[in-house]
Amino acid sequence: MPQNETFWNPYRMIPIREEIRKKPPLTDEKFKGRSGIISCSLENLTPLFIGGNREGKEKFLNRELKPVIPGSSLKGMLRSLAEIVGGGCFITNPNGLYPAKYKACQKADDLCIACRMFGMMERGANAKVHKGNVSIGDAILQKDRPETKRFEILLSSCGTRHEPFYRSEQTGKLDGKSRKLYFHHPKRTDTVPPIPDDLRSRAWHINALVPGHHFDFEVQFSNLEPDEVELLIYILALEENVSVSIGEEKINLKGPLRHKIGNAKPLGMGTCHVKIEKITCLADPRKRFTALQGVNNTVYEGDALQRQISEMIQEIVRDTSPTMQQLRKMMVWDENDSREFRYPEYYWFKNPANSRKVLKVI
Ligand SMILES: [Zn+2]
Repeated sequence: MPQNETFWNPYRMIPIREEIRKKPPLTDEKFKGRSGIISCSLENLTPLFIGGNREGKEKFLNRELKPVIPGSSLKGMLRSLAEIVGGGCFITNPNGLYPAKYKACQKADDLCIACRMFGMMERGANAKVHKGNVSIGDAILQKDRPETKRFEILLSSCGTRHEPFYRSEQTGKLDGKSRKLYFHHPKRTDTVPPIPDDLRSRAWHINALVPGHHFDFEVQFSNLEPDEVELLIYILALEENVSVSIGEEKINLKGPLRHKIGNAKPLGMGTCHVKIEKITCLADPRKRFTALQGVNNTVYEGDALQRQISEMIQEIVRDTSPTMQQLRKMMVWDENDSREFRYPEYYWFKNPANSRKVLKVI
């Protein structure tokens, strides 16, 4: 939805947090911090496609012919949420746009929360590496026979990068103080937008998993500080009940927050429901290593797990900063959301009358 249009642009730039706090990560020698394993499930709510290697570009990435969501894709999704919610550095800096304080962390002993959790690499000679205190395994499909459907997709109507769409909403400038997120398209559980005839030659054909496939994956964490564990739980569980009012039209949406992963996000693909099924907290490492007595891990499941999750995420849930409010407006999944999402057409971008048009405020 550029201004004065009825459709909605598939993405928005949402404001980042002003402050990025840096400090050394906890490391193994210190035997502090919390460690454990989080068992999760993932269900796709819209078609899901994770591209394979170059030869099999249209096929879903698989291992032994079974679709798999690589841990690296899950990590990318979670890290970018940790950067937004927790206030992290920008690991990439296209155009050198971002102010110095948001630049990628440079020293392994002075890291933002996202780098402490997910790792970083120094540059130059004698570069040190912090491998990250969170590691994520591949997500494995539960059933044996996946069901796919062939989709004809076009990822952008033209190569134009319309600068006004990338300005930060809070400053109205192209200052890099924002991050890109895509809306969910609850109407698109079985279809993608049709492609105009003159552009069909540029379409790409993919076999995506139809909605309703279930995957399992595990997240291991070690030596996390309490605020890092809380952020990790939040970016996995998100929120189950939000209501937001979007834009001047005051479109009211209600529902849970859901993740987005994989290819073709602007077309509505990749919405998924990540659920924490079990948390195993490892006993205090000092006790584990010094005593012969049994290891008392704590396992949270069922109601106790739900109570534990609500307690751990409550501070972030209560956060009404511009960053969190806009994140909720972007990530809410409301099945009654009837908006139409698409990029403006080629001719829209070419029309001089549109050259300064920005996106409507959400
Ligand atoms: Zn960082």
